[in-house]
Amino acid sequence: MQIYIDGNWVGKEDAKISVFDHGLLYGDGVFEGIRIYNGTIFRLKEHVRRLYDSARATLLTIPMSEEEMAELLLEAVAKNEKTDGYIRLVITRGVGDLGINPATCPEASVIVIVDDISLYPEEHYTRGIKVITASTRRNSPDAVDPRIKSLNYLNNIMAKLEAQQAGCLEAILLNREGKVAECTGDNIFYIRDGVLLTPASDQGALKGITRDAVIEAAEGIGMETRATPSTLYDLYTADECFLTGTAAEMIPVTTIDGRTIGTGTPGPDTARVREAFQALIKNEEQTAAKK
Ligand code: PMP
Repeated sequence: MQIYIDGNWVGKEDAKISVFDHGLLYGDGVFEGIRIYNGTIFRLKEHVRRLYDSARATLLTIPMSEEEMAELLLEAVAKNEKTDGYIRLVITRGVGDLGINPATCPEASVIVIVDDISLYPEEHYTRGIKVITASTRRNSPDAVDPRIKSLNYLNNIMAKLEAQQAGCLEAILLNREGKVAECTGDNIFYIRDGVLLTPASDQGALKGITRDAVIEAAEGIGMETRATPSTLYDLYTADECFLTGTAAEMIPVTTIDGRTIGTGTPGPDTARVREAFQALIKNEEQTAAKK
């Protein structure tokens, strides 16, 4: 494994950063999780754009251009000879004093790890998963905006702990107004009367790359889609529900807070959207391969 840290390629054992790094001390940094399918990086430009948006929003200067970053990611995939896998791209504020002041960190650190993707067991996709609503609310957009993919995941981790205590894989986070925001590491969708619905991204959700791709795939098969403020009632009474994320892709949800969703099994519209989403991935792979 060849890991990139600030201009150097090192093996796993040597991939170390300082204990004075503000990413470690304060969660001061931003990151991306990116999928490699068949040797191509899925939605490379979109991930790089989101990373730089997160950096801009947190006044973090990444010491290379967006084009150079895209090149670096391609180089990392080639160096690691990975055809299917996962890239973790991390930018930290860098090494500074023990105090919080980011001005003591002269330069941001850039880390690129290419690894295997740890896939969820197939039964989650065929049977669907149970989720609960966490009592922890999603960070409010007027604190740390959830559209910033920052290294500070404590909010989501608190909710993840609640999910685990309830024997669930994921938890739904509500925003401050009590509307559905997203899950700890996934966006949420539901289907009612054939319409695909998801909370609007200004309701406290990350603008998921998978979320966008799923909306595009659903529209491609003629499905109506809508990003709209959503309540738990909307989820409980939906015909179908599923989660999206880079690692999970699309996972059907069959129980929420003890309520059975629809028939209690992954529904036909979810299957149709999943098929369209997989076709979109294949299509983008082939387009990228021709370049
Ligand atoms: N929400 C949160 C909080 C996340 O961390 C993630 C990424 N794992 C997502 C949603 C899904 O985003 P993406 O489709 O870009 O992976």
